[in-house]
Amino acid sequence: MIEIDHVTKRFADYVAVAEADFSIGSGEFFSMLGPSGCGKTTTLRMIAGFETPTEGAIRLEGHDVSHVPPHKRNVNTVFQHYALFPHMTVWDNVAYGPRSLRIDKKKGKGEVKRRVDELLEVVRLTEFAQRKPEQLSGGQQQRVALARALVNYPSALLLDEPLGALDLKLRHVMQFELKRIQRELGITFVYVTHDQEEALTMSDRIAVMNAGNVEQIGTPTEIYDRPATVFVAGFIGQANLWNGTQTGRTNRDFVEVDVLGSKLRARPGDTTIESGGRATLMVRPERVRITMEQPTGDVATVPATVTDLTFQGPVVRLSLVAADESPIVAHVGPEQDLPMLRPGDKVHVSWAPESSLVLPAAGVPSTEDLEEMLDDS
Ligand code: ATP
Repeated sequence: MIEIDHVTKRFADYVAVAEADFSIGSGEFFSMLGPSGCGKTTTLRMIAGFETPTEGAIRLEGHDVSHVPPHKRNVNTVFQHYALFPHMTVWDNVAYGPRSLRIDKKKGKGEVKRRVDELLEVVRLTEFAQRKPEQLSGGQQQRVALARALVNYPSALLLDEPLGALDLKLRHVMQFELKRIQRELGITFVYVTHDQEEALTMSDRIAVMNAGNVEQIGTPTEIYDRPATVFVAGFIGQANLWNGTQTGRTNRDFVEVDVLGSKLRARPGDTTIESGGRATLMVRPERVRITMEQPTGDVATVPATVTDLTFQGPVVRLSLVAADESPIVAHVGPEQDLPMLRPGDKVHVSWAPESSLVLPAAGVPSTEDLEEMLDDS
């Protein structure tokens, strides 16, 4: 449906998007996720036609549209600030597009009414049809904006942080609503957000962007379980990231890493790291187990000292420190039957080697790296 073919966008010398190269399938809910300034809005604006690629091409349904203006592309955009016409009713707001395109003349009398009624039904606003925008809540106004963007049946809907103006509770309701509407209509959604939870909840696939680069594209599960880089691991969910050295391969499925003052078996990531190469070990906090005795069996285990405990409802968040002073975070659920602990207590921290992941160390400056950088400057 949408092909971003080796697209680079420069503003003067500044590279906002570097060599983006991916495709979005028909009917897919695809999110572009990343911190402020990573280039996600610029990529969306190039798909919409508000920006032109400096290099590469954008194709929609097989046609190169890189230089086609926005109104001639079969896509529509919903922004965070949905400018509804304040003097028109909900019904007239939604009817505005098809009326301007003289849809009744082209498709037969009654077509505008049929479409507007259908879309108001889809966004569940039929009973609000005669209200003015000011008589609606923020979530309802956003749904009018959605109906208005969908009423001309675009082949893709582009959404730029559309829930950004809503409070947290309403955002959650609208996340499910958006997903339902997308499924019901089967339209491709391209969604820009900096909110990882939002992207994980709604998307079929996510492109994680950082400083103009697409770091990884995958399903929410793939990105969470097998992040390709330290940046993705840290940006999606919470992660323990410990720097060390890969010391060898133990068998086909596992490597050995020297981290936290211990040699541990770990699952290798997709990037091959040479023996003796710098590596970062990732373990999600919910995978970490805490025991008073050193566990036996097929686990990676290190001694640690508790520094802090916070009760967070479903989990207890434990902060610890390893023998080499590296911080460790554990989220301990009720199933672990955690003993009463206090800061200063000595415990054993462990996890299954298959729930760890070895990543190339680039991007996480170690204390030595930072000192070197300071010396150089
Ligand atoms: P945010 O979530 O803050 O909107 P973003 O990831 O969507 O961030 P972009 O809006 O794509 O980021 O911007 C990427 C970079 O390109 C930013 O550093 C931004 O300042 C720069 N940029 C965007 N548009 C222009 C422009 N018209 N002229 C110059 N620089 C621009």
